[in-house]
Amino acid sequence: MDIQLIANFAYILSAILFVFGLKLLGSPATARKGNLLSSLGMLIAVVAGLSAEGIVDYKFIAIGLIVGAIIGGSAARLIEMTSMPELVALFNGSGGAASLLVGWATLYGTSSISTFTAVSLILAILIGGVTFTGSLIAYGKLSEKMTSAAIVFPAQRIFNSLLLMALIGSCVMLAISPSPDSIWFWAVLGLSLTLGIMAVIPIGGADMPVVISLLNSYSGIAACAAGFAINNNILIVAGSLVGASGMILTNIMCKAMNRSLANVLFSGFGAVKQGKAIEGEVNPISVEDAYYILEAASNVCFVPGYGMAVAQAQHVVKELGEILERNGTEVSYAIHPVAGRMPGHMNVLLAEADVPYEQLLEMDEINPRIENVDVAIVIGANDVVNPSAREDESSPIYGMPIINVDQAQTVFVLKRSMASGFSGVDNPLFFGENTRMLFGDAKESISAVISEFS
Ligand code: NDP
Repeated sequence: MDIQLIANFAYILSAILFVFGLKLLGSPATARKGNLLSSLGMLIAVVAGLSAEGIVDYKFIAIGLIVGAIIGGSAARLIEMTSMPELVALFNGSGGAASLLVGWATLYGTSSISTFTAVSLILAILIGGVTFTGSLIAYGKLSEKMTSAAIVFPAQRIFNSLLLMALIGSCVMLAISPSPDSIWFWAVLGLSLTLGIMAVIPIGGADMPVVISLLNSYSGIAACAAGFAINNNILIVAGSLVGASGMILTNIMCKAMNRSLANVLFSGFGAVKQGKAIEGEVNPISVEDAYYILEAASNVCFVPGYGMAVAQAQHVVKELGEILERNGTEVSYAIHPVAGRMPGHMNVLLAEADVPYEQLLEMDEINPRIENVDVAIVIGANDVVNPSAREDESSPIYGMPIINVDQAQTVFVLKRSMASGFSGVDNPLFFGENTRMLFGDAKESISAVISEFS
């Protein structure tokens, strides 16, 4: 049978595996299976693509797979869960760089290029370049290898507009006479890489999750353009799936922060300072007193945040939850969509500790019944429970939906100090009359409460 025909059947199988994989990724219960199916789809696509085009023989495919599997496997194993968004940023950057290189290589490899192919490959270079450097900056910000605050300077918008106009002009010139030796090719390459940097540096603090998701979408669109440039169906399908799902996730995250995408990208958010000054007294609580209150509570809700990931407290949280349940207390876990440092961060940690899925409540489920919660235990969450987002119009995080823990009967906040969270904004919750601060590492504090129970 014709090798191209076999490859096309393999591509259809891969596309089906991608779609089912994505569907299964929608729930923590089936996510592992989804990941496996999608990886299998990618393996089939890569092997079919490389062998059908006669690019490399089986020996090189096998070597590539082994080297790739070692790098990917060790990265996934060695990287801490809290650093996962940084890894995702690097993966997005690699996707962008790959599309850029495919576009560049196509420019070299083809003698007469149709306008359609020229436009596709220029888009692959442009979007791939923006994604590559944008992702590296996002990585630098998330890993704090550079300041995570928004970097803004006078006339930045004018500079960016000129950059964009120069880039569009260069793209048009390159499309008219596509050649890798053309000065316009180097202009498109250089300006795209610069635009990626300029687009991400003014975005700071709490907006990084949206940027990562948007760059993920860009890497998909770049791959899709590369697919059109080299006429490869599975690259078009996979790129479209990544592009569309990244856009949907970006939209969901913008809604979770009550911001428009334009506001996220252009407002220089992280550079904004505090809202109203906060007045009041902080009420610390001892482990022993926390135990007495919990012992008498009939409804307890855990609200985890980034600090739970840092403390790796998920297992002791689950243990305390079980102790409370045996004591006749109703236990739930409220999950904010941007708690932690990556989408689904808290779900992953709680799933790792085997917390039953039916005890996990989304923000919209817990908020209407938060007043019936006797004790809301905030474990290393800060921004996602900050009432300024609801009440203080001058606050940089005003409008971001939060879990209204301040409306529970009593709130325990477990953290090490009075330090602010990712957005750098102070939190009036800590000064609330019904708030008790249990200072210390979250894992140690919860372990101490568990000791009191036993
Ligand atoms: P925050 O970053 O707002 O706050 C985390 C808190 O955890 C800190 O105030 C810190 O206080 C505390 N903490 C740190 N280590 C420990 C520890 N060992 N034990 C106890 N407490 C600890 O986290 P949230 O989850 O509330 O909010 C997430 C923020 O991150 C949002 O602003 C979101 O926009 C942003 N973000 C989200 C991403 C996502 O996709 N989910 C990705 C990137 C950013 P202290 O130092 O006093 O202990």
